[in-house]
Amino acid sequence: MENSSKERYRKMTLEQKASLCSGLDFWHTKENKDAGISEVTVADGPHGLRKQEGEHAGRGLGNSHKATCFPPACTTSCSFDRGLMQEIGRAIALESRDQGVDVVLGPAVNIKRSPLCGRNFEYVSEDPYVAGEMATALIQGVQEMGVGTSIKHFAANNQETARFINDSIIDERAFREIYLAGFERAIKKAKPWTVMCSYNKINGTYSCENRRLLTEILRDEWGFDGVVMTDWAAMNNRSKAISAGLDLEMPGPAAENDERIVQAVKSRTLKMQELDAAVDRLARLADKAKAIPKGQVSPYEASREIARKAAEESFVLLKNEGILPLDKAKSLSVIGEFAMNTRYQGSGSSRINPTRVTHAFDSFEKIGGSCIYAAGYRLDDSGEESALMDEALIAASKSDTVIAFVGLPEPYESEAFDRTDIGLPDSHNRLVEKIAAVNPNVVVVIYAGAPVAMPWIDKVKAVLMAYLPGQEGAAAIPSLLYGQCVPCGKIAETFPLRLSDTPCYKHFGQRLVSEYRESIFVGYRYYDTSGTKVLFPFGHGLSYTQFQYETIELSKSNLSSGDTLQVRVKVNNVGDYDGKEIVQLYISTPQRKVFRPIHELKDFDKKFISKGNSEEFCFELQHRDFAFYNVSTKSWCVEDGTYEIQIGASSQDIRLTSELKVSAADKEMVLPDYQEQAAEYFHLTANGLDISMPAFESLFDRALDLSDHPRKGYHTINSTLTDISDTFVGRVLGFFVRRIHNKQYKLDPREDQIRMMEAMVRDMPLRSFVSFSDNKISKSFFEGLILMMNGKPMKGFIESIRALRDNKRRNKRIDLKKAKKNK
Ligand code: BGC
Repeated sequence: MENSSKERYRKMTLEQKASLCSGLDFWHTKENKDAGISEVTVADGPHGLRKQEGEHAGRGLGNSHKATCFPPACTTSCSFDRGLMQEIGRAIALESRDQGVDVVLGPAVNIKRSPLCGRNFEYVSEDPYVAGEMATALIQGVQEMGVGTSIKHFAANNQETARFINDSIIDERAFREIYLAGFERAIKKAKPWTVMCSYNKINGTYSCENRRLLTEILRDEWGFDGVVMTDWAAMNNRSKAISAGLDLEMPGPAAENDERIVQAVKSRTLKMQELDAAVDRLARLADKAKAIPKGQVSPYEASREIARKAAEESFVLLKNEGILPLDKAKSLSVIGEFAMNTRYQGSGSSRINPTRVTHAFDSFEKIGGSCIYAAGYRLDDSGEESALMDEALIAASKSDTVIAFVGLPEPYESEAFDRTDIGLPDSHNRLVEKIAAVNPNVVVVIYAGAPVAMPWIDKVKAVLMAYLPGQEGAAAIPSLLYGQCVPCGKIAETFPLRLSDTPCYKHFGQRLVSEYRESIFVGYRYYDTSGTKVLFPFGHGLSYTQFQYETIELSKSNLSSGDTLQVRVKVNNVGDYDGKEIVQLYISTPQRKVFRPIHELKDFDKKFISKGNSEEFCFELQHRDFAFYNVSTKSWCVEDGTYEIQIGASSQDIRLTSELKVSAADKEMVLPDYQEQAAEYFHLTANGLDISMPAFESLFDRALDLSDHPRKGYHTINSTLTDISDTFVGRVLGFFVRRIHNKQYKLDPREDQIRMMEAMVRDMPLRSFVSFSDNKISKSFFEGLILMMNGKPMKGFIESIRALRDNKRRNKRIDLKKAKKNK
């Protein structure tokens, strides 16, 4: 720490320093006027603001201040457009300034390991390069306007099931190449003000207290010098966390943990310098926040335009057998309640209270003239299905073309729980099948935050994946179908044919321990390497025009360490429309001593090409782009060999290739011995992967400790309500917690919200209830209860009573202090 900073905090007492490291409340950090540290306001994130304070505080997730709901990352990732992400970032920053928000909690860049993850709609891609690039652009946009960001959830939070306690068991190579690579790219390039650590453990250690993650990798290797905060109620052991490199516990207040920090410094289990370093980083964050220009013009009108453009740039035309664009002379029926009632965002902490919402049906008539509507199904399952179906079939048989809107209703996917299959609701699938039987000209439009199975795919003429279009996007669907704009999005994830084909199928979603047995073979890295057939490959998306990939040119034929390679690609628009093309650059590596995917995406670009013309796409690659993470040397290494540069329209549609010799920086480098023990990774089975435990374990430098379920007699502060329900005290506690939560549901009684809250309560460890309790209960109280549950009823009872009394006193002291300050 510099001397001037030292001077600034010299007068702060140990207690004040400890207290600065936890939030004031749900959305603010604390101030310290004497040290010139002001409060910082944070709000969700990532694709718009959810600011919940003032009259909007404590009113359920959906009742925050109004803000623009941009399409979530599942949608905007398909734009492959960095400029667009920056524009969205700038718009979010202007709204933040208007609402007094200093740090936006996003972007969220966790890798889509399985299509089942309930939060995939908030995440960018199965590919770390895309995740890192799109996040970089969003951060740059927000921060360019002076507002901060919090890249999250660092790291390996790839499922929602038991996310508070789950342990992600990942080998170092997959961790670096897949799960950290997106963070590394965005953090180094865009320098977010803050990082939010994840709830889960990684190989046995909670992220919040993971020194390797928060200090050795994040700060020492990547040079991050901002604040690391916890995800909300992710704190496990605060003293360990501070020495691991974490700065801020959220939400606050967390008075008991503040006291534990004071004790830890006094007893020398925590170094004063470590606490000072956190204080310094928090003070610098507060300085940046203080400098943010506030207010100015109302940004909401301009945001609407950007939100609409974002959707248009991101919709993906998955299939088109000559039916699109629609012919205005043909009659149309629009079927499916989603056409009238858009599913425009996902559920959970990212839920925005939008300034307005558009619905597709309203725009169909404006563009194409009158058309028939039939609901086909009810989103709340309240309708009589056969009557709705009959009505839909009559409409379908009366018109030349049918647009069928189907998708995942809100309760199907959300933060806090995972999906259990990739199917659409049966009523939606039945509707498409039956309509296709009476009318051959069916176009399906899908609203969903993640891939879904399409059992009827051969019976329909076109499919448009609208994902979750944000508040303005639905109005853009008819103009896209009628050809007023030309589709130009491509999927940033694979659509598998069957759930059982997904590489982590056998090991996804376990409660306590998630074995990442597929290692680096995530998404297309698995499907393309193993030859598994998919419904739609990564990077796929059609246009109304056609592009011809003409030439590829490399600036050299040999690449050594320190060199840069330029790749130039010429693409012609040979179709009948002006349009945009997303060109993807993959590197295919020689299979030698180290197992590698058949190819990996290393760059992409999107360009407008007018019909009859061509454009040049220029890419630049560095030596590191050819590297794998060498666990023996703990560094990025390149194997000697001939590599192929592939230019594709998707991961399975490679149009141009060229070869290049790449030499290793160190010819003598030590390599891990994969061929002997991890042979299974060189010969991946298609249609589902089942890597054996010995092969998986050989990727680690130690035997794996896959700890057992907490059970009666062994409960800890990390046991969940589900775990402790095997004890009487646990069942009583569960009863009361559920009663409190039932009251919460009433504030925002939507089904998705109820399912989310139920999942949270079920899977939350006892310590997290403390964090969410606004100092009302203390960790020591739960520690007493745990003693009772573990067979020491008297001792536990006495400790709980003592803890209740101490907490009462502590809160009284805090109230007194507050009253004094306010005088
Ligand atoms: C989510 C974060 C979010 C935070 C604050 C947590 O439950 O995981 O993404 O930013 O809540 O709402």
